[in-house]
Amino acid sequence: MQLNAKERRLFFNGPCLDELSMCQAMCCRQWDVNLSLEEVQSNKYQLESICFVTKKECESPEKECLNRSYRLKKKENGDCLYLGEDSKCSIYNERPKVCRDFTCKDGWRLADVVRPSDSKEDFDQKRAENVAAKLKGDMRFVLNPFNQKAEIFYSPKKEEIVAVVERPDKCCLVTSRFPFPHFKFTSNQLAAFLDLFDGKNNLDKVLSGFNAQFNLDLPVKVFYLLISSLLSKGIIVFKS
Ligand code: SF4
Repeated sequence: MQLNAKERRLFFNGPCLDELSMCQAMCCRQWDVNLSLEEVQSNKYQLESICFVTKKECESPEKECLNRSYRLKKKENGDCLYLGEDSKCSIYNERPKVCRDFTCKDGWRLADVVRPSDSKEDFDQKRAENVAAKLKGDMRFVLNPFNQKAEIFYSPKKEEIVAVVERPDKCCLVTSRFPFPHFKFTSNQLAAFLDLFDGKNNLDKVLSGFNAQFNLDLPVKVFYLLISSLLSKGIIVFKS
């Protein structure tokens, strides 16, 4: 095992069984093992149908649904059902393709380790710059037509934006939330902001329209951070 502190990656680069005492088969404990259609139809595995959107077990398996996928069943503690007490796979020779293809040779990212120089402000600045480099002022976006907008609001207490949308198949409501401590929207402001994504306004007009409507000066950096989050959550989509 090697730690690359600069890249913040942990490499388990020896043979799997040699590394097992260190990694404790984390790969079999924390991720879903999604199955191909052939694997589902083979009847070899105990599986559960899950909602692709919510990642929870499907509550109406009798319904036709495009959002359904299948994964290996898990134990109550979240471990793969086939993981033995000895942290070894009990169906090793018959394990699904996802498991056979899995490798640690590129290392595991230590997501929780933050270098001191990566302050939250630096991180936000870089994210805003990355988004700004990809977006242009004349681009137009619309509210995602595949989401029925149920409710989007700003929680000043938690400093986060919360969107509750209904999926097109009306199977479930999906809640997305993301922290947004950069600007405290009122409910009216956020609703008015989202209304500006009508497919006619380009990004420049959304920003200037919002500022003019509320006599504000929402900085471009904050604007791009917000656009980035709305895009990543699928609340707005690129129109043309
Ligand atoms: S099938 Fe085997 S290798 Fe795959 S996750 Fe389960 S225990 Fe691990």
